[in-house]
Amino acid sequence: STSVVKKPNWLRVKLPTGENYRHVRNLVDQHKLHTICESGNCPNMGECWGEGTATFMILGNVCTRSCGFCAVATGRPDAVDWDEPQRVAEAIHLMKVKHAVLTSVDRDELKDGGSIIWHNTIKAVKSLNSDTTLETLIPDFKGKAEDIQRVIDAAPEVVSHNIETVERLTRQVRIQAKYRRSMEVLKILKQGGMRTKSGIMCGLGETKEEVLQTMQDLVNSGVDVITLGQYLQPTRKHLPVVRFVHPDEFAEYREAGYNMGFDYVESGPLVRSSYHSERHVIPGYGK
Ligand code: SF4
Ligand code: SF4
Repeated sequence: STSVVKKPNWLRVKLPTGENYRHVRNLVDQHKLHTICESGNCPNMGECWGEGTATFMILGNVCTRSCGFCAVATGRPDAVDWDEPQRVAEAIHLMKVKHAVLTSVDRDELKDGGSIIWHNTIKAVKSLNSDTTLETLIPDFKGKAEDIQRVIDAAPEVVSHNIETVERLTRQVRIQAKYRRSMEVLKILKQGGMRTKSGIMCGLGETKEEVLQTMQDLVNSGVDVITLGQYLQPTRKHLPVVRFVHPDEFAEYREAGYNMGFDYVESGPLVRSSYHSERHVIPGYGK
């Protein structure tokens, strides 16, 4: 089994400690919020939370989908909580967060796909935190332009939608999602005037050529910012790691990305889509 592939030492991370980390942890708990940092067992929690940033997951912690890499539980989600936008806004206010990442589970059972809560949350955060910038990492909303438009109308600084893997592996990795549909979502966001972002996980069995092709498809869909990181298996029930991509290969992707025309490329073993997110709002930062 590939699950015995040993983690190389460039993937070793510091344990989360420190006063700021504990402060963020307490606020997240008190406000009954969910973070992708925790559910994904992200190796960067010490660093990100220590700097007073966290990724909030809205619309509950149960997803209608079952992506093979994802640690979020699949099932029937709870009813929509209309107070959630205000709670998220207040937590961000108390945490004095300058930049926040919002993401959500997929709510395919809802008529609006959860887009109204998305809209309300962005608006609530903005109205209580006028200086806070936002990255919103959204689902595909099954490609429905009307739902995507609700996010655009709330005007977050960056809208991300992760392609996650190459076209050939999409059915295996993202099961209910479609490569071309996600590219269409990104195009709609760009046409709506958004600064756009997407991400690829490496090590799931894709070839280098396929990664480069996916990057090119993303540029062609109008994506400004791209993240590339190593896939790590959250539990033994998830897809195995096929390969640990060497830091030199991530450096190659970075260079190739800038040559293709991305405005910002974040590429390295520990990169997660929300890693260094505060930099991704700033045009030209990576150059
Ligand atoms: Fe959370 Fe993203 Fe930082 Fe990981 S990289 S701790 S998921 S904000
Ligand atoms: Fe996880 Fe998102 Fe897939 Fe749901 S749609 S299983 S939250 S990656």
